[in-house]
Amino acid sequence: MRLLSSLIALCLSFATFANATDDKVYTLTLATTWAEQVPFLGSAPATLAQTVDQMSNGRLKIKVDSPNKHKAPFGVMDMVKTGQYDLAYTASYYYKGKDYKLVFFTTVPFGMLVSEQYAWYNHGGGKELAAKVYGEHGLTSYPMGTTGIQMGGWFKKEIKSLEDLKGLKFRIPGQGGEVMAKLGVNAMSTPPGELYTALERGTIDAVEWISPVFDFAMGFHKLANYYYTGWQEPASEIQLLANKKKIDALPADLKAILEVAINHVGTQLMTQATHANANAWENIAKDFPNVKVQQFPADVMAALKKSAREIEEEQAAKDPIFKEILESQRAYLAKVRPWTLIGEYGYLKQLEK
Ligand code: CA
Repeated sequence: MRLLSSLIALCLSFATFANATDDKVYTLTLATTWAEQVPFLGSAPATLAQTVDQMSNGRLKIKVDSPNKHKAPFGVMDMVKTGQYDLAYTASYYYKGKDYKLVFFTTVPFGMLVSEQYAWYNHGGGKELAAKVYGEHGLTSYPMGTTGIQMGGWFKKEIKSLEDLKGLKFRIPGQGGEVMAKLGVNAMSTPPGELYTALERGTIDAVEWISPVFDFAMGFHKLANYYYTGWQEPASEIQLLANKKKIDALPADLKAILEVAINHVGTQLMTQATHANANAWENIAKDFPNVKVQQFPADVMAALKKSAREIEEEQAAKDPIFKEILESQRAYLAKVRPWTLIGEYGYLKQLEK
């Protein structure tokens, strides 16, 4: 009996000791690029906060600030670097002006599809390259969802040949814009809030945005009839960027909880994107019969590919790590694409017969 009560006392004291250390609450601050009303990208950080709170029994909290609060949607990476925030939810390619090779961790023109890119990241050396690149910035990066493949944009006039692109006022930012500019396009980066009016007034002739669920919310289908399939962003990946010192100082269990939660929320977001686009597209033929899905002609596609390659080679000549990642992705694509072609693409082709 005495032995039992001693054991209980011992257990209780262990429990008290364990609680004394475990009860400490860690709070991380997160700055996000997207306002809450943006479909699913806007709510993902709050879902992450709720998930880590539940998994850690309240020991890990994340305080989310939207762009309305921090006022710098494209400054969040810097705010995490300097320690003003602990975490940022954003897309790496917004920061190509600071470090061009960050584009590889979002998506690149003519690059990998979502399934191929995740395979490269998780098993083909991508994660190690990301650690090297973000490590230089004092950051750790985690993939946290993808909006999937993007469409090539809304055009008021059909593009029949390369000639039709000359002087075209096309809102297409980022790497896609650089590629288009080499073909004589007047590539513009009109701010999102002005896009509808710009297209309506003819300040722009065409606009590249994201995919049906996002594009319909902007109303482009009411102004432009031709909806082109994509080439510029085949797998747009979203990142959770963390201040490395801050994350490494977390207790190991909380760090593991955070990582598992990021992965979980990211997977949810990927399926949300597919689901929401399917819903958005479901009634297009009935509601907007004017919309025609088009593909760019062969001469345009060949010129776009050539231009994309040239830009990659220019960057590779300037930065050996850019070159290393470029070669890693190209080698992986050469390996994985034949499987995609005989697998999923082969299945779809067969169904068309
Ligand atoms: Ca886009």
